[in-house]
Amino acid sequence: MSDVLAVESGQPSAYDLDLEMSLLLPSSAPPAWGAAVHEAARLLVDQRWDQGSRASVDLCTLSLLLFARTYAGDRVPGDVPAAELVEAFHGPADHEPQIIGEIDRALTETGQGRDRESGRNTPLWSIFNTARDQYKGRMGASLLADDIEPPAPGPSPMRGAAGRLAAFFAGYPDQAREQKVAPVVAPGPLIIESDRIQIATAHSIRPVRRCPHDDRVSGVRVDGPEAILVCDQGHVSAHWELDASRVRMAVARATGVRPSAQGTHRFPELVVASTDLLRHSDPRKVNVFLRERDFPLVGRDDVLQQVGRLIDERG
Ligand SMILES: [Zn+2]
Repeated sequence: MSDVLAVESGQPSAYDLDLEMSLLLPSSAPPAWGAAVHEAARLLVDQRWDQGSRASVDLCTLSLLLFARTYAGDRVPGDVPAAELVEAFHGPADHEPQIIGEIDRALTETGQGRDRESGRNTPLWSIFNTARDQYKGRMGASLLADDIEPPAPGPSPMRGAAGRLAAFFAGYPDQAREQKVAPVVAPGPLIIESDRIQIATAHSIRPVRRCPHDDRVSGVRVDGPEAILVCDQGHVSAHWELDASRVRMAVARATGVRPSAQGTHRFPELVVASTDLLRHSDPRKVNVFLRERDFPLVGRDDVLQQVGRLIDERG
């Protein structure tokens, strides 16, 4: 079965893996990174991709290591044997993985580290930082306020991933690898043009109307792990309730395309699940207003009519 068929046949795992891969493939990444992500996906294709974040951290960690071991071009990710992966990921469970230093160097040497000129992280650096973060994003407040004690570091997501990957590859036959097929995902931005982008939680739907400069928001651009709002004047801005995976899922639901779709799509209205909701939540099923619109239970009109009738009868 071809990779495309695997996705389009409705095999849920391939569909979810397709989404995970797209989040790791910003258009600015070098070709060696794309090859590393595809080989990592092939090796892990039989994992469960519908169960939250563990498999996605494993995919990210394996992609980073394969990139660090092959970016120089002397071999391709498919040449890295399982035994080498076991050795790389093996380490004491109470220490951060030993691979962090070599990944750091590989990203820096390929221009994918922190961009000194703009002071911004490249998308690959953001992906790496999220995986190795020992503070679960808790560091921000303590850096801003003197009276908040910095939190103690905990295990990074990458530490758990390294342990799981070491165990996984310990019993992995290299010959099995050739038969595995993962989706093929081309890196490229997904651009949504819409005058009415709405963010839905379980209990609210709110339009995103204005950029931080108070111009009209005209769309969203998703590229790799990032989702940014774009306004009429070309400003770009992040929104704390908007993330790449949920925007991709909204477009996939609205059009039937794969979650990794690229190109420009226009919608009169696009309802995106808030980051408060699970990644795969469909606002039409979990939002109280949209759910009632599609699946009317006892509508408010009915209640008002009944009350009106009761008043009439008594009058
Ligand atoms: Zn603006």
